[in-house]
Amino acid sequence: METQRPNGSPESSRPSFTTTRSVQLAERTETPAGMLAGFPTWPHLVVSPKTTSPAGRSIEKRRIRKHQLLNVIREHGPLSRADIAKISGYNLPSVSSLVDELVSDGIVVEEEARPTSRGRRPIPVLLNHKAAVVIGIDLGTKTTIGVLMNLGGDVLVRIERPTPSFRTPDGKADDVVKFAMDLLSQCPQPLAPLAGVGVGISGLIGTRRSEQENSVIFEEQFQSLLAERLGVPALVKNDSQMLSLGSLWFGSGAGYETFAILNIAEGLGLGFVINRRVYRGAMGFAGDIGHTPMGDSGIPCYCGNTGCTENVASGNGLLRLAKQEGLEGIEQHELEEMFHAGDERARRIFRRFTEVLGRAVATVVHLYNPEVVILAGRCAPDSSIYFDQLKHEAALHMRPSLAHSTEFFPCKLREDAVPRGSAASVLHHIFSSAHVDLEQVL
Ligand SMILES: [Zn+2]
Repeated sequence: METQRPNGSPESSRPSFTTTRSVQLAERTETPAGMLAGFPTWPHLVVSPKTTSPAGRSIEKRRIRKHQLLNVIREHGPLSRADIAKISGYNLPSVSSLVDELVSDGIVVEEEARPTSRGRRPIPVLLNHKAAVVIGIDLGTKTTIGVLMNLGGDVLVRIERPTPSFRTPDGKADDVVKFAMDLLSQCPQPLAPLAGVGVGISGLIGTRRSEQENSVIFEEQFQSLLAERLGVPALVKNDSQMLSLGSLWFGSGAGYETFAILNIAEGLGLGFVINRRVYRGAMGFAGDIGHTPMGDSGIPCYCGNTGCTENVASGNGLLRLAKQEGLEGIEQHELEEMFHAGDERARRIFRRFTEVLGRAVATVVHLYNPEVVILAGRCAPDSSIYFDQLKHEAALHMRPSLAHSTEFFPCKLREDAVPRGSAASVLHHIFSSAHVDLEQVL
């Protein structure tokens, strides 16, 4: 029985890997086609909705079932095969056969069976965190942060560096590949196979073409460019949407159904999760709150408008306010130090920042009625500087019932929230194959 699509099957345009049942993890190596040659990879661990032929659909359907069981094991394991059948709703013979494949693949492992007075107990299975690794990258306009993570969400390597300037999408793709190789080469050996790479990018990351907009990065185009060079699936989304996913998987949003997360980076973005799904909007552009007109009026923005919220409530906004106060060329951390030292100019700057951010928060609460608003992002200031004042400012612009019923807090992941969210996007595709419409494979 095949557990993975055979090498060179018609459905796949990417290099495929010999991950049949008898092959051990260490033998899963990259074919020379991708630029990651030399590093082990496992591209077909990620379920992708690209199947077209009837034979491909049948393989994909079985793979989706396997991933559904894998998710049950991840969430509830260690579990016996009978318990997996009970939770998943599939019958026991079918569960046993699929779990046997997962064990052979090395994605789940069997615990030692303990003999009891009533004979041998069923052998429980649990997720093998070390079976594969994923990469998450926050490709900011000034700083790039990347993490290499195992299937359990443990960060194995983290790299932060300045973002070079790119002239073309090809240049950007080449840089992401090089950065991925740096992350892999710094991982302590033995290195598990790489299953996929997630990249969060600021700005408009579109799912559909808009003729009027020439600054849009098209998700599918850039994903294919990266996947071709990497030899593994690549997932590209807006950084605030990656942030939401990271918060759902690893961060402060994990316990909530519906929440908003403000991404205070060089600009200002908003991620929104409704019933534990990231909301993306009709064209993928949802959450571009930085370009709503709540900032200092008359100040031109690169988007073509004036008075945008992010000209105050963002990392670049803070630096612009600092320049107005005669503090040109200052770094944000120096501004924070001045605030703590009682400098009046720094206090005025953070007061204005908090006023505008408070209006943005109140607007989000009135529009969406989230359970909680989380403040995050790589340029989010030290929360002791602005957080209490922010709650006060937001409440000034909110109806009392909403102000009393909405929680606020800063995200614990700080500047690692987007790279971890980008890695979570790959884990999400491995474990929650529900993102693939069943109609596409049935
Ligand atoms: Zn703007």
